[in-house]
Amino acid sequence: MKIVIAGAGFGGLKLARKLNNKKGFEIVLIDRFNHHQFQPLFYQVATAGLDASNISFPLRKVFQKSRNVKIRMAEVLQVIPDENRIITSTEELTYDALVLALGADTNFFNNEQLSGHAIPMKSTIEALQLRNRILRNFEEALTIQDENALQQRMNIVVVGGGPTGVELSGAIAEMKKYVLPKDYPELDFSKMKIYLLEGSGKTLASMSERSSAQSAGYLEKMSVELLTDALVQGYDGKTVRLADGRTIESSLVIWAAGIKGNIPAGIDKSLIARGNRIIVDRYCKIQGTGNIYVIGDLAGPPLLAHKASKEGIVAAEAISGLSSEYDVRGMPGAIFTDPEIAMVGLTEEDAKAKNIEYEIGKFPFAASGRALSALSTEGFVKLISEKSTGIVLGGHIIGEHASEMISEITLAIEMGATIEDLALTVHPHPTLSESIMEAAEATLGKAIHMVNKKTHQ
Ligand SMILES: Cc1cc2nc3c(=O)[nH]c(=O)nc-3n(C[C@H](O)[C@H](O)[C@H](O)COP(=O)(O)OP(=O)(O)OC[C@H]3O[C@@H](n4cnc5c(N)ncnc54)[C@H](O)[C@@H]3O)c2cc1C
Repeated sequence: MKIVIAGAGFGGLKLARKLNNKKGFEIVLIDRFNHHQFQPLFYQVATAGLDASNISFPLRKVFQKSRNVKIRMAEVLQVIPDENRIITSTEELTYDALVLALGADTNFFNNEQLSGHAIPMKSTIEALQLRNRILRNFEEALTIQDENALQQRMNIVVVGGGPTGVELSGAIAEMKKYVLPKDYPELDFSKMKIYLLEGSGKTLASMSERSSAQSAGYLEKMSVELLTDALVQGYDGKTVRLADGRTIESSLVIWAAGIKGNIPAGIDKSLIARGNRIIVDRYCKIQGTGNIYVIGDLAGPPLLAHKASKEGIVAAEAISGLSSEYDVRGMPGAIFTDPEIAMVGLTEEDAKAKNIEYEIGKFPFAASGRALSALSTEGFVKLISEKSTGIVLGGHIIGEHASEMISEITLAIEMGATIEDLALTVHPHPTLSESIMEAAEATLGKAIHMVNKKTHQ
């Protein structure tokens, strides 16, 4: 069976690994680069914490010992579904099954002024450009006498208050605090301003109210100036213009405000949804086609590396004739702020919107012995469960190592576990993960280390 995989990102690479050296499959893996890019570490490259080579993995090395994976460095241009054919910048290939894993690119919403001057961060090359621009601005600042021109060089504007914008603003704030004053002792970094502009009324707008509030608090702690309801209308390389007339002077604007799927020509327009994503069924297959799969960001939100990887596994299993499907209910997410924010399943807002009768159990880290001894008591564990059955529907953790702990609640959702299961699970003491058991006990009104307050709707 001849499989063509278009894109060697998190989804495509996982799929190719799954089918690697599997009898009966001939695989062609196509990407415009000959290496896989580890996007979650672009911030570190952009803020000079890591070299590009640390986050780039040569595809030929990954498949050095493969007997059935061929790699092609080429641009995917067009799919001809009726003929099972795909056209790239270098050749035409036929397939028995095609998997589109081309990810997403920056969306400037057709604003040419913005695309001409703002810097995106969707590839290693762009992360390096950003790093060079940050450093060049400070090199230039050293000899600028004019106060306004100096301030323009010192200001950095990030546009987009989603996870990327929030995390990136925090990474730049850390750079301002710990790195730049050492490298440029002649500059006064108290003058450096980091702005985060968000078009809606809050950051992390698609997440829970609490996550939004937490991220706003984090940005304040990091001295990032957050401007909400700030719709960027234009940027000429010097001045950012907002729709309400406000302006900000800055010679560096980073665009993290929108992405759109990389759809090749030949895909029926009726299959394309908002955000330029392709509509798929739960087997990751394009509706109405027998042999074209779409995985990862191109198949729509949540736009997460592990979601793309999971869909790569689902597609590999479906192509192999196994029964496998993608289930969004157990898909965790994490925001790497300080402390971290992590969530899985339904939020309280989701449960209300779906008219589900639910119960809440909450445990604050201020009551955890481990958190107290680590002097890290900010945050909580919150569990949402169905009132009638006790089945765990969602979890939300704010606190140190939240991104690690969320996996226990993810497992509970995956297994269809109840709050009682979590409460009965013995956790080692003293650990932060005990807080999950305590939150479950709080749901049942049996909390030992805090006052039992039952919340339900
Ligand atoms: C700055 C940043 C930080 C992030 N942090 C996190 C995080 O902490 N955790 C998390 O879970 N997710 C994070 N993400 C999101 C995550 O990286 C994406 O969800 C994930 O990469 C999607 O995987 P994918 O396989 O769909 O696409 P990608 O990984 O984007 O891969 C797509 C591949 O297709 C190739 N390609 C595209 N178009 C063409 C074409 N026409 N021809 C040939 N090749 C093409 C690209 O070169 C790329 O290799 C972050 C993203 C960014 C930008």
